[in-house]
Amino acid sequence: MAIEPIALNFDAVDAQAMYYALQKKLNAVWAITQLIAIVLPLLLFFSGWGAQAYELLRRHLRLWWSAAFALFFAIAFIALIAQIALIHFAITMQSELIESSIPSFSGFLLAKLPEAVATSALIGLSGILVCYLLDRKHRLMWLWLSVLATVLGSISLMATPALTETQPLGDTPVERRIVEMAGQLGIPISSIAKERCHDARSCSPGQVIGLGPTRLILLDDRLSAKTPDEQLLQVFAHEAKHYLLDNNLKPVFLIFLISSVVFLVTQTLSSAIVARHRAPYTSVAEKVKVVPLVFGLGLATFILLQPALNTYRQHVEFEADRFGLEFNRHNRALIEIMRSDAAANPMLFRFTPVTRYFRATHPEIRARIEFAESYHPWANNEPIVYAQYMGK
Ligand SMILES: [Zn+2]
Repeated sequence: MAIEPIALNFDAVDAQAMYYALQKKLNAVWAITQLIAIVLPLLLFFSGWGAQAYELLRRHLRLWWSAAFALFFAIAFIALIAQIALIHFAITMQSELIESSIPSFSGFLLAKLPEAVATSALIGLSGILVCYLLDRKHRLMWLWLSVLATVLGSISLMATPALTETQPLGDTPVERRIVEMAGQLGIPISSIAKERCHDARSCSPGQVIGLGPTRLILLDDRLSAKTPDEQLLQVFAHEAKHYLLDNNLKPVFLIFLISSVVFLVTQTLSSAIVARHRAPYTSVAEKVKVVPLVFGLGLATFILLQPALNTYRQHVEFEADRFGLEFNRHNRALIEIMRSDAAANPMLFRFTPVTRYFRATHPEIRARIEFAESYHPWANNEPIVYAQYMGK
């Protein structure tokens, strides 16, 4: 099976090169937004400007926490407005290649403003929480915070199905086939539902939401009207792997691992830096000044973890493709799905290193097609990896 050229607007090598070049530019814009969010708070700490701004605010606001909130809110808000401006710039840049209407900057800013205000308020409140935590110089603070983040994260993941508008599977031929496949894999019918798709473009043909006992395979309710039957079955086989092997304790461990590293590194580095700079926390003002340092270090650590996290997530997706192929054995269907994905979003075809390590949760489509072209051990009577789940 040779790879045929990708269909639609993505058939020419020239077009691939242009999308690759555009991807590099968009990644540069993304990197600048991340740098602003990291460098701005660190700069405010090390230059002492954050402290000066706090003193200034303190003269007008009687309560220390209202001045602190105003400071943290302002820092976050400035970073977010810069981010919105850069995203608008990226959309304008993208429109050269991807046909889309460019919103006016003022309209775009207005539309994004409520979210920016809410996020800044949340960061302001977290900053005050950090002030309180700085008082309790407990060596294991990072651990308690990680446990808290894991509990909150797991609860919100578990609650997603209850907050999603779904309907049970119907009785069309393709739905009956899905029920049959689920039976072979031991997946209860109650764990499969259709998602009411409000925004046609953003709905994925299939996904798994929820965690452990609440996990649910969701299919776009347009089913065959959107995705041809044999592709839909391949999508279901892929999602079945996430249901059986991924949406259990793995996300819980992952949240714990990531938050542990972020909190441990942030706690260790900020304590060391504060100890070198001055006697720590002799006053409220001292603590308020340290908060931007904590935020800057936390975000930097989180960004530096992305290559490991994304490599793992891409591996999980790649294995779901393997599982889907071993179960459904319809390589052509997977190739067709990948082709329509690439046609819809050509930048997913081939990744730059920045996309691969810092931004992508799924492998590049080029690699997934190559795998779908070449992986068929059953044809050569070779063992398959996931036989134990399929009774094959
Ligand atoms: Zn997947």
